[in-house]
Amino acid sequence: MQKDIVPVLIVGGGPVGLALAGDLGCRGVDCVLTEQTDGSIYQPRMDLVGIRTMEFCRRWGLVAAVEASPYPRDYPQDNIYLTSLTGYELGRERFPGIGQAPPPPESPQRRERCPQNMFDPILRAFAAAQKRVTLRYRTRLVSFAQNADAVTAELENADTGAREHISARYIVGCDGARSLVRETLGLQMQGNPVLTYTTNVIFRCPHLLSLHDKGKAYRHIFIGPEGTWSTIVAINGADQWRFSIIGNTAKQQYTVDEIKAAIRRAVGRDFEFEILSVLPWVRRELVAETYRNGRGFIAGDAAHAMSPTGGFGMNTGIGDAVDLSWKLAAVLEGWGGGGLLDSYTSERQPVGARNVAEASGNLRRMLSVGAHPQIADDTLAGAETRKKVGREFSEMMRREWFTLGIHLGYRYEGSPICRPDGSPAPPDEARTYVPTARPGHRAPHAWLADGRSTLDLFGRGFTLLGFGADAEEAKPLIEAARARRAPFVFVPLNEPHVAALYQRKFVLVRPDGHVAWRDDHMPAESLRLIDLVRGAASGPNAAAWREHANADKIA
Ligand SMILES: Cc1cc2nc3c(=O)[nH]c(=O)nc-3n(C[C@H](O)[C@H](O)[C@H](O)COP(=O)(O)OP(=O)(O)OC[C@H]3O[C@@H](n4cnc5c(N)ncnc54)[C@H](O)[C@@H]3O)c2cc1C
Repeated sequence: MQKDIVPVLIVGGGPVGLALAGDLGCRGVDCVLTEQTDGSIYQPRMDLVGIRTMEFCRRWGLVAAVEASPYPRDYPQDNIYLTSLTGYELGRERFPGIGQAPPPPESPQRRERCPQNMFDPILRAFAAAQKRVTLRYRTRLVSFAQNADAVTAELENADTGAREHISARYIVGCDGARSLVRETLGLQMQGNPVLTYTTNVIFRCPHLLSLHDKGKAYRHIFIGPEGTWSTIVAINGADQWRFSIIGNTAKQQYTVDEIKAAIRRAVGRDFEFEILSVLPWVRRELVAETYRNGRGFIAGDAAHAMSPTGGFGMNTGIGDAVDLSWKLAAVLEGWGGGGLLDSYTSERQPVGARNVAEASGNLRRMLSVGAHPQIADDTLAGAETRKKVGREFSEMMRREWFTLGIHLGYRYEGSPICRPDGSPAPPDEARTYVPTARPGHRAPHAWLADGRSTLDLFGRGFTLLGFGADAEEAKPLIEAARARRAPFVFVPLNEPHVAALYQRKFVLVRPDGHVAWRDDHMPAESLRLIDLVRGAASGPNAAAWREHANADKIA
């Protein structure tokens, strides 16, 4: 490889670009990340770090940093539905502070509340700590072109205006919803470009809690006579709040006075506060048809733009980064096959489409209340309306608050680099996650006798778990992986509860923690299996052999 060619150029230093850079760095891959700003976050968007993202943070050694972030861990995470903060409460879903809820049995981690202005610096420090990663802030991608061998990108220094060219083997656009990388690659987005024109406002008011009787809560959803119209979120669990005028498909521009009046309406009284930032934005429902064109890829918001309802956007993007990272590493190291990089779209695009749809469904449910002119009236009719709306809304909104299935239950059904075992797929439901080691799924968590999670066994290369098996029995796959120079470890396990969960004697887990294959016997053709999972299966019968768990007899 030419020395002056960077293996991977990442465009965009948001959470997804930083996670990709850090993960590539951990895998020993040189990369350059270019970010047009200095990395400061003026208005934090994401604040829910989902449970799967926390599992990746565990792999990256970042859990302590997330837990130490300044968001108070005892701050109740209730979601309240109300006419105003000083008005009527219609319903409430109670949640304890993040640090007060133990991880669920399905994971060694819990989801975390860590707003972007706290989480991005953690990811930035992680990426910067990798020897192989170069972070270049205030450096904008201006344009790029690719040929069969490389990508040539033009970068501009935001301070001096100086331009330079940089060559890379691959370029990954983590450059957000208006991605230049996506546009240059000609990748089309499909879906609905405008769900709502929404305005977010961060305001400071250290004494807000003393102005009302609803107590501490994470999210407040305001329902007026016209229906659901705004929300307030406790953005740092202290003095800052994010007020959101949800809006609709009509573009709206508010004056500062209108914004202040809307905040006072939500609180239900006059009070003093300071507006820190105003961000009008468009809520979209889009996913790219394909995430790759030649040497270029897209990940995160560049590949899917979704409503924040549910908190899936960044978490989906970090899933993209983890899926793409090991594949780029494999190809750059020479053990990844010709089909490996295409499997990125096959695996991640359906997950993007799924999560985009779920997020829009959450929005629709939240807005489905409709008009109730009497809802704030101090009358019997008003009270009855509140009771009915409160009951129905509380029931309906649970789907947004309980989403273990979304975060842990995504699967790579039909992936060209996983070999199905013929077992039926568990239902793919927002709320319920059914732990399974079925090929294509996240290898499930169980605690091991030594205190580790099964998840702690995965992450570098392939991991072959052998339940009640020794290395001699696993030799065919060990040797096949060695023959193909694929990083591979064999881990014998003798813990019955883990064996019961994984359900087969041998389970092959990929570098990203997903199951590639499982069986009670070594495969009849070990080399063929290793070629499949490293994206090098080819020939007219490759697909047929992959599809049929017992088709080893197919030539
Ligand atoms: C109100 C709100 C709340 C949300 N809450 C959550 C939540 O709780 N959980 C969750 O998972 N998601 C949430 N999201 C979504 C989440 O914020 C995004 O999905 C996430 O920030 C996407 O990360 P990204 O790295 O893909 O893109 P971005 O964060 O948009 O980062 C893209 C980066 O690329 C840079 N860039 C762009 N063009 C160039 C260029 N030409 N050259 C160099 N750099 C460039 C930009 O400056 C930017 O820093 C929320 C969104 C909103 C609006």
